[in-house]
Amino acid sequence: MKSVLKIFNVSMPLRDESMLHTLTAEDGVWTSVERQVGEGLPDPELVPVDRWDGVGPESGRTLCLDAEGKAVLPALADAHMHLDKAFSLPKVGNVSGTLAEAIANYSSAVPAFSKEELRARIMRSALQAISCGTTAIRTHLDFHVRHGREVAMRAIEAALEVKEELAPYVSMQLFPMLPCYDLSEEALEAGAEALRMGATGVGGAPHISPLPEPDIDKLFALADRMGCPIDVHTDESDNPNIRTAAYVARKTMAYGWAGKVTVGHLCSLAAMPDEDAGEIIGLLAEAGIGAVTLPGANLYLQGRSDPFPVRRGVTRVRELLAAGVPLAAASDNIHDPFHPFGKGDLLQIGLITAYAAHMGSPADIRAVLRMISEHPATVMGLTGRGIEPGNDADFVLFDASTPEELFAMVPERRWVWRQGRCLKTAGSRADWRLPVLAHHWEDASERISFRKKG
Ligand SMILES: [Zn+2]
Repeated sequence: MKSVLKIFNVSMPLRDESMLHTLTAEDGVWTSVERQVGEGLPDPELVPVDRWDGVGPESGRTLCLDAEGKAVLPALADAHMHLDKAFSLPKVGNVSGTLAEAIANYSSAVPAFSKEELRARIMRSALQAISCGTTAIRTHLDFHVRHGREVAMRAIEAALEVKEELAPYVSMQLFPMLPCYDLSEEALEAGAEALRMGATGVGGAPHISPLPEPDIDKLFALADRMGCPIDVHTDESDNPNIRTAAYVARKTMAYGWAGKVTVGHLCSLAAMPDEDAGEIIGLLAEAGIGAVTLPGANLYLQGRSDPFPVRRGVTRVRELLAAGVPLAAASDNIHDPFHPFGKGDLLQIGLITAYAAHMGSPADIRAVLRMISEHPATVMGLTGRGIEPGNDADFVLFDASTPEELFAMVPERRWVWRQGRCLKTAGSRADWRLPVLAHHWEDASERISFRKKG
């Protein structure tokens, strides 16, 4: 007995804005996406989504919802988070507000974090992202082997537990950040162990190494040995001479790894002359590398040592898109020493991207929507996420009707679906439809404090 979900009067900003649509899913899979011809469909069975209680469709039944012109996007994908660090700010401060102090303070605090605490932070921040419409997350994880293997593995074990518990609701990819200040044989072996335990790919931040190129070689060799993708923090610096992105691109071409390598940040591209940046962007495009901009964290962290005029630190968004590089906008850090703000809301990140990259024309606004939905799926190697027959019915419905309204209002009210099942309605702050999610939310939230303790 199939359960059928039909949603009428849906606006589809990334598909065709000239008409409203009717979407149909059977047993959690899209079966049709139709343009509506003529006036709406008066139907006594039609329930306005605003008045729907979030229940159903049940087996053997058809649920007909009226979206009343609200906009739908494929469920969002956050290509770069740090779930293990989220909500750590009350315990780990950052007086200077610099990246260097954030790295130093966090790394010395790591041994004091129990696996239970890390687990609660990962759970809470993942649920926070889901509540905003995200159903796929790539998280980087700190991996401080210098504090001993047991400490390094805590974040991996905690993240693997949360990944398994939330598997029906969100796809999580885990990238341990191999320590590029000291990329020893022991560290590489620990990284291989994390991958055998279930981590997704190799991470790191080679631009902070005194010898970035040999470290990049080692990261590629590890990914080759383990048969996994790479996602490196790249050139998160205002120094225009930091250019590891070019080396990563050449390595990617040498290995023939188009689609397997991701670079995040790329701040130095914004500090160098147009011609030099153009050359590096050309290499990234040629290599088939995915890129991620983290505009919230970089507007906050970069430019700290500049006298006025102060650089903004956000990479060259428009140029990367024009070159055909799949460029995602992502959350990065949430309420931690790297970035005190944020809540895992990709619409908020899209708005910050639009400000930082001067993107506000109708075409720009739609390009930014792709940076939080379609491009991150490409970067993360995810398929079958669009609103098309045959794909899972993962989507988010916003209380706004056009892309312009989405960014003007950044509506809190959203309905989030995964495989045709509503996870959260727009009713209240955390109106989880499933008791298991409400339980996880309360449980993890109890451990999270926004007050500085003792
Ligand atoms: Zn990061």
